[in-house]
Amino acid sequence: MTSFDRPHLYIGGEWVPPASTETIAVENPATEEVLGHVPAGTAADVDRAVAAARAAFPGWAASSSRAEVLDRLHASLSSRAAKIAETVGLELGAPLKIAKAVQAGLPLAVLRSYADLAARPVSERTIGNSLIEHEPIGVVGAITPWNYPLHQVVAKVAAALAAGCTVVLKPSELTPLVAFLLVDAADEAGVPAGVLNVVTGTGPVVGAAIAGHPDVDMVSFTGSTATGRAITHAAADRIAKVALELGGKSANIILEDADVTRAVKVGVGNAFLNSGQTCTAWTRMLVHRSHYDEAVALAAKTADGYTVGDPFDENTRLGPLVSKAQRDRVLGFVERATARRVTGDPSLPAKGHFVAPTVFADVDPASELAQEEIFGPVLSIIPFASDDEAVAIANNSKYGLAGGVWGSDERALAVARRLRTGQVDVNGGSFNPVAPFGGYKQSGVGRELGEFGLSEFQQVKAIQR
Ligand code: NAD
Repeated sequence: MTSFDRPHLYIGGEWVPPASTETIAVENPATEEVLGHVPAGTAADVDRAVAAARAAFPGWAASSSRAEVLDRLHASLSSRAAKIAETVGLELGAPLKIAKAVQAGLPLAVLRSYADLAARPVSERTIGNSLIEHEPIGVVGAITPWNYPLHQVVAKVAAALAAGCTVVLKPSELTPLVAFLLVDAADEAGVPAGVLNVVTGTGPVVGAAIAGHPDVDMVSFTGSTATGRAITHAAADRIAKVALELGGKSANIILEDADVTRAVKVGVGNAFLNSGQTCTAWTRMLVHRSHYDEAVALAAKTADGYTVGDPFDENTRLGPLVSKAQRDRVLGFVERATARRVTGDPSLPAKGHFVAPTVFADVDPASELAQEEIFGPVLSIIPFASDDEAVAIANNSKYGLAGGVWGSDERALAVARRLRTGQVDVNGGSFNPVAPFGGYKQSGVGRELGEFGLSEFQQVKAIQR
């Protein structure tokens, strides 16, 4: 037993033993030591959790105290902020400074925003003789990945709860521990029994059971495009709604009249945030030919300045990747690449799943390096000669999640409008936790965060009078 062992599932407002005694070991990716164990849930556990969520739904949907409950949940989760950062530092390998600011700070901000939205009086809307009502969609299955393990959970759970839905959550089997802190907080805050249920386990067992469950009204998923496709197929049989936040291959466009130094430095930081394990990462840096050599040299120098290592050392900028499988996958892309590698030190510690920040220049926009989501600290630099060419290269992707544009304001905004992506930051515009977040093309369906995220969990009804 370690202090991180969590032997029970949370179903119907109680910590209950799972149907099976099998467990999943959670690894510290920086040391390769086992941190703790969580239940390997089964379809029987999912059945119980869905039944609890279904039973709780009418009461929660009709409740007038959702805002107060979310307020209390925010207070009890906030009191765990230090523990959240430490847990994500341990199970994901996120450097502590970033873990505090992003892995703990962002979900707290998102939860705050949903407590506020739940408190907002519902405005009566009419269209002609119709009264327009927004109603919670029902029981939501939430399936989340490991890269922002609490943020991705809260983005779904807080929005669904604010809308009046009840939830069965399956966190990633690689980083399940932080989700238990949310459940501890929910238990302490008096979230009514059955409103939030958690079943840990693997994707093919627990995730698939949720996605295919006849009594789950909507599946909200974040993760790979391949799994998003499988979930969509599973939900299609019963015409259940899916909301999908999937992969990306975002472009950072540095125009002729950009502040090149800032654009490159911020761009490298964005690409390598969370060791490159970020769906919105600007992994393609597109640079106008007039600045190309300067940008390549600066990107390599910036990457070389990043300290890789122990997440709990305050000088560390890049921790390990989440798992050996993820590291092997990323190194596979690096080894197969034919572009010019300008930096990337392969001599990293033998222990821990570390990958050095790696920069490739002269990358063919059609190559694997420029087309596939690598999900590691690997940046591809591509030259262009005109704004039109930059837009064409940026949009030449099966994905459409995010992007950046740098240049004089009007010109950069014009380019931003032409990108087929759900988010674009112009001249370093900062992340907005209440702005709609989601993807075009194979980056997803639907939007998360803020009021757009809340409405994803609602049905719209027209009553004629
Ligand atoms: P994944 O899609 O396999 O896993 C995400 C979640 O889905 C996990 O909780 C997993 O258990 C669950 N899952 C897996 N198979 C399932 C199934 N058949 N039915 C239902 N649920 C299932 O992603 P991963 O293996 O953790 O990462 C693989 C790749 O996905 C990464 O290399 C990266 O490219 C991408 N990814 C993207 C994001 C993002 O935010 N866009 C996040 C994580 C991973």
